[in-house]
Amino acid sequence: MNTAINKHTVDTSRTVERLVAGQVTSDGAGVKLTRVLAQGLQQRLDPFLMLDAFGSDQPDDYIAGFPDHPHRGFETVTYMIAGRMLHRDSAGHQGLLENGGVQWMTAAKGVIHSEIPQQAEGVMEGFQLWLNLPKREKMNAPWYRDFKNDDLPKFVTQQGVAVTVIAGESHGVAGAVTRDTTAPNYLDVHLPGGSRFEQKLPAGHNAFVYVYRGEISIAGKGVPIQRMAILANEVQADGVVIEASVDAKVLLISGQPLKEPIVQYGPFVMNSQDEIYQALSDFRDGRLGEPAQSA
Ligand code: MN
Repeated sequence: MNTAINKHTVDTSRTVERLVAGQVTSDGAGVKLTRVLAQGLQQRLDPFLMLDAFGSDQPDDYIAGFPDHPHRGFETVTYMIAGRMLHRDSAGHQGLLENGGVQWMTAAKGVIHSEIPQQAEGVMEGFQLWLNLPKREKMNAPWYRDFKNDDLPKFVTQQGVAVTVIAGESHGVAGAVTRDTTAPNYLDVHLPGGSRFEQKLPAGHNAFVYVYRGEISIAGKGVPIQRMAILANEVQADGVVIEASVDAKVLLISGQPLKEPIVQYGPFVMNSQDEIYQALSDFRDGRLGEPAQSA
């Protein structure tokens, strides 16, 4: 008996609680994007605060990028499928994000950064996820790391499902980043037509799937392209089974809810209104995003 395989087998899949289409909007200096996970879902999908999907071959949709702006209180995870974007921040970090690379930025007590496209034409496609920080970590020092696509942990199942483990763990493969409190699991799953993929998930963790190529089904419910499926937290379910009848690509994201108050004002996400006022006055007075002190 091969326990190494059985350990990753799901007996009862979660079902789809709800499909979400997202809202077309723009951010930064006019970057067109779809806000898949918006403010109204922050409680339901705690610890996740936002998921933006961007994808265009029209330079006008992305060329202005995101000039200098602040963040405080959470982490941003940018996954660049296609295109080139340059990041610079007040902590002295700089990195070029491209071709399947991931940038993980823990803004914590404060970062001012810019995200500017390094191309005048061609396709720009990717995702930005916002992951909340627990109250006790919101005022920690910022942290930043770039991962080139080749540096991201990957595996292929016997059915030919190719999985990139951006965070967490899947089938015994540890992700590029792990976090103790929010325990994010962030997978990019490429399913050939006729395949299925099983992922164990603790019932208490909030989870969702976003389909960005093809279509899939979960527990008999179809999930079309450019839809997010929120997965129900059924106590009897031990994970999720994703089935693809055609070639499909999906993000599967889950995490442990913080169950702390969420107060957001634009790029600041804290636990109270007073902490938001503090962030605004720190930003105004130049105390947010001071360069890192050398030891
Ligand atoms: Mn930003």
